[in-house]
Amino acid sequence: MAQTILLTGSAGFIGSHLLRWILNHSQARVISLDCLSYASNTDTIKDLLEHPRHQFVEGNICDVSLVQQLVDSCDGIMHLAAESHVDRSIKSASPFVQSNVVGTQNLLDAAVRCGRKRFLYVSTDEVYGTLTEEGSFKESDPLAPSSPYSASKAAADLMVNAWHHTYQLPTVVTRCTNNLGTHQHPEKFIPRMILKAIHNQPLPIYGHGNHVRDWIDVRDHVRAIWWAYNHAPKGLTLNIGANQEYSNLQIARHILELIPESNAQITHINDRPGHDFRYANDTSRLREISNWKPVYDLKESLKQVIQWYQNHSEWWKPRWNETE
Ligand code: NAD
Repeated sequence: MAQTILLTGSAGFIGSHLLRWILNHSQARVISLDCLSYASNTDTIKDLLEHPRHQFVEGNICDVSLVQQLVDSCDGIMHLAAESHVDRSIKSASPFVQSNVVGTQNLLDAAVRCGRKRFLYVSTDEVYGTLTEEGSFKESDPLAPSSPYSASKAAADLMVNAWHHTYQLPTVVTRCTNNLGTHQHPEKFIPRMILKAIHNQPLPIYGHGNHVRDWIDVRDHVRAIWWAYNHAPKGLTLNIGANQEYSNLQIARHILELIPESNAQITHINDRPGHDFRYANDTSRLREISNWKPVYDLKESLKQVIQWYQNHSEWWKPRWNETE
């Protein structure tokens, strides 16, 4: 019989892409759970709400009895729900500790209580902290998160591994680099730059703008998650990335090149406190044990993402704050 997966964070950016990918590419049944926070958008998954293999549940991962009931009725868990915006975590860490740490503990405990269900946790490369110009993160590197967001993700990441060692929970942790794609909240870097360019407003870049991020198309990320959930050895941690490093300034310039009708300009604003200089993942472990490889080139993805935001103002307008 086809497996049933509990997917958390399904109305968010990556979760919605993952939900769609699973329903389109497998026979799995999906129970998806999301509290519909400001970061979510049910329009994104509206067409999937009636899908015969999908059941959407509005609820919080911190709700002990709801989570236990949902975990009881699935074969495994893909856990993506999280507070995810670094700037918000700097203003107020509490929701991040609640959702990212306490919520994860609740899911882990439920998975142990009902027979040690497969548990995939979507962590982030930000748990490693920052790099200088050289080198890349390996899975064996110590965690050294810099922001309240990445610290809460690192806490959960360590807990998942602890639950594997202590309770033999069959876990896998994935640590991916920055994603780009459609349906990402306008507060995030790439959508924000695109929407500023579309509105002919200055593109605000933190500090000097030479901060480097390693970008991956969300469609490549969800394929890697699916492989890891189904095939990765128990207890393993896997870096995911596409080895596409660009500085924030380079990304902003590409966006302006791809929107030639915009007369917006780049402007430098005060740097983010504790701003990590560079992230880059060594993905050799994943590439050695799987046939997965990224297929989307950043500039091509960027072009498609820009076109999507240009054509879907009904999606982002209710969430776009022109003054931020
Ligand atoms: P997102 O903010 O777009 O989506 C998160 C979703 O989780 C939202 O729909 C929100 O409503 C839901 N959620 C938050 N708290 C919840 C709670 N307590 N109970 C139920 N639902 C809750 O984030 P995203 O960019 O899609 O990221 C998804 C996951 O991937 C996160 O765990 C994030 O840390 C991780 N990640 C993201 C990136 C990236 O570049 N976006 C890179 C690596 C890892």
